[in-house]
Amino acid sequence: MIKVLDKNVADKIAAGEVIERPISIVKELVENALDAGADNLVVEIKNGGKTYIRVTDNGCGIPCEEVETAFLRHATSKIETASDLDAIDTLGFRGEALASIAAVTRTELVTKTADRKTGTRLVLHGGAVILKEQTGCPDGTTIVITDLFYNTPARLKFMKTDSAESGLIIDFISQMALAYKNVKFRLINNGKILFSTLGDGNRLNTILRVYNDVDARNMVPVSFKEDGIEIEGYISTPAFSKTTRGSQIFFVNGRVVSSKVIERGVTAGYKERLFEGRYPVTYLFLHVDPHTIDVNIHPNKREVRFDHETLVTDFISRAIRDALSTKDAVVDAGNLFRNMDKKISPSKVYERVFEPFREKEPEKISRKEDQVDIKQLLSTIENPASEETSTKAIHHEEGTGPSIEIYEPQLKPFDFSELEITGVIFDTYITAVDGSSFYLIDQHAAHERIFYEKLVGEYESSEKARQSLLVPLIINVSLAVSENHFDWLDALAKMGFTIDEFGSGTFRITEIPMFMELSEAEDFVNQFIENINDSTNLSNKVVIDKLIMMSCKAAVKANDVLRMDEIRALINDLSSCINPFSCPHGRPTFIRLTHYEIEKMFKRV
Ligand code: ADP
Ligand code: MG
Repeated sequence: MIKVLDKNVADKIAAGEVIERPISIVKELVENALDAGADNLVVEIKNGGKTYIRVTDNGCGIPCEEVETAFLRHATSKIETASDLDAIDTLGFRGEALASIAAVTRTELVTKTADRKTGTRLVLHGGAVILKEQTGCPDGTTIVITDLFYNTPARLKFMKTDSAESGLIIDFISQMALAYKNVKFRLINNGKILFSTLGDGNRLNTILRVYNDVDARNMVPVSFKEDGIEIEGYISTPAFSKTTRGSQIFFVNGRVVSSKVIERGVTAGYKERLFEGRYPVTYLFLHVDPHTIDVNIHPNKREVRFDHETLVTDFISRAIRDALSTKDAVVDAGNLFRNMDKKISPSKVYERVFEPFREKEPEKISRKEDQVDIKQLLSTIENPASEETSTKAIHHEEGTGPSIEIYEPQLKPFDFSELEITGVIFDTYITAVDGSSFYLIDQHAAHERIFYEKLVGEYESSEKARQSLLVPLIINVSLAVSENHFDWLDALAKMGFTIDEFGSGTFRITEIPMFMELSEAEDFVNQFIENINDSTNLSNKVVIDKLIMMSCKAAVKANDVLRMDEIRALINDLSSCINPFSCPHGRPTFIRLTHYEIEKMFKRV
C-alpha cells in the first residue's frame, strides 16, 4: 500500500540529506547568524559537536510570533518569490536548515529582537515543540543543539571520532573568522577557548589570533592588482615553512576554495626560495570578476574553476615574488629563539640557529587543539572564568580587554648600502652589521646565488660577456652524451661558453663566461654534462634552469679564504641579485640577529 509519510518521518529523511554531521549544523547556524547581521559570534562545541553545539549571535533576533515559523520547512525570510533566487546575496536561502536540524536533535532557541523588552525561548525535541516561553535575554539569538541523531541512531555510526569532527568545525570557524575580519568570533571546544578574534578589520591581527602557531615576524603582506584581478593577504617568508600544504588557505571572492591553479601560482612564486617538500604558509584573498569563475560546491570543499588558468597562476606567482622581494626577506635568527627557555645551553642555541635549515624529518602534525597557547589566551581574554555554556555568555563585554601586541612586519626593502662588513668566521661566514642588526652571511650560499643568477642571465641575454682562454679546456664525455651533443653544446653556448667538438667524445672550450674562474668553469661544465641524460629536454628553459642550479653547487667551493676586497665584491654582486636572500637550493644566504634580540639574549632587556 502506498502511504504518504508522516511529517515527522519525512523531516527526518530530508534532514539526513542536509545534516550529515556536526559541521553541517555549525555551518548553517553560523551562516544564519551572519545573515542576521551579527558582528559578534560565539561557537561552542563538545565532543566534536556530537553532544553539544551552541551558536550565540548579536544579530537581529526573531520576533516571538515567528519563532515556530522559522522551524518550518521552506520557511525563510530571505526570498519571497522564485525570481529572487538570482539576486540572493545571503549565505543560505533554502529555508530548511532549522527544520532539518531540529528534526534530528534536541534544539533550544533563545532569541530577542531589539524592539522588545523580553525574548522567547523555544525547545524542540526531534522537531516537535515541547516548550515555548517568554524569557529575559539580550538582543540576538542563541541556538543550542544537543544529542545529534538521538532519534536516528543509525546515523551515529557514520560520524567520525570526536577529534575528527571537531577538526572540521575548527577549520571552518577559523576560515570564517579570517573571511569576516570585521566580525568577532570566539570558538570554544570542550570548555576551552581555542581563539577569539577582535573583529577590528585587521587582517594580520585576525590571522595571528586564529592560528596560534603563526609568527608575525615571518609573515609579509601581499597586495597586488592587475587587469581586474586583485589579491591581498599574508604569506610566510622562506624562514617559515611546513611539510604539507595544510597551512595554505585561499579565498576567492570571500569564500574558501581549493584550487590547483592557485597552488601552482604559490609554488612558482616561491621557486628557489624553499627546499622541495617544504610549503609556505599563505592566507590569500583573491578578488576576481565572478563571471570569470565557475564554483563547484562539494560537501566539504569548494572547487573553483578559472576561465583563464595560466593568467591566474602567473598573476599569483608575480604577486608572491613581489611580496617576497620588495619586502625585507632576510631570515631572522631572532625568530629561532622564540620560545627559548631560560636555561638553554650554548650548543642548543647553535642548534636553534642552524638546525632549521637542515633537511628535516617530516614534522609531527599536531592537532589544532594541542596548539592552543593557554598563556596567550589568559593574557588576551578577560575574565576567562566567566565563559560558560550559558546562553547569555556572549553578551558580557567582549574584546575590550588588553589585546596582544601585534608586530607589524617591516615593509622597508633591505638596504645593502648600509651593510658594514666586520669580518669572517670559520673561513665561511661573513659577519656584518647595519644600524639595527648583526648578520651572518654564508659566503658559499651567496656565491652560489650569484653564480646561478649570472648564468641564467647570460643564458637569457643576447650579448655574452666571454673571456678567451690561453690554453683551451679539454672535456671528455661519454658516447651517449656526445651522440646528442648539438643540444647541450647549444645550451652551453647560450651561457657564454665557446665549445666545439675536437675528436670523438672530446670537446674543446676556448672561451668561458666573463665572471667565472677557470676552475669554476671546468667544474661547472663537467657537472652540467654529467647531469644530462637521454630524457633531458634541453629546449625547455625550466630544465636548463634546473641543470644550472645543480651544476652551480659543484662549481662553487666552500671554505675559500676571501680577501676583504673579494668579500666586498661578493656582497656587491649579491646586492644586484633578484633573489639575494637564499641560494638556488633554498638555503638562506643571510641570517640576522637584531640588536634587540642580542640584548634579550644577554638579559639586558
Ligand atoms: P534560511 O536561512 O534558508 O532562510 P533557515 O532554516 O536557516 O533558512 O532559517 C529560517 C529563518 O529563521 C531565516 O530565514 C531567518 O529569518 C530566521 N533565522 C534563523 N537563524 C536566525 C538568527 N540567528 N537570527 C535571526 N534570524 C534567524
Ligand atoms: Mg539558513
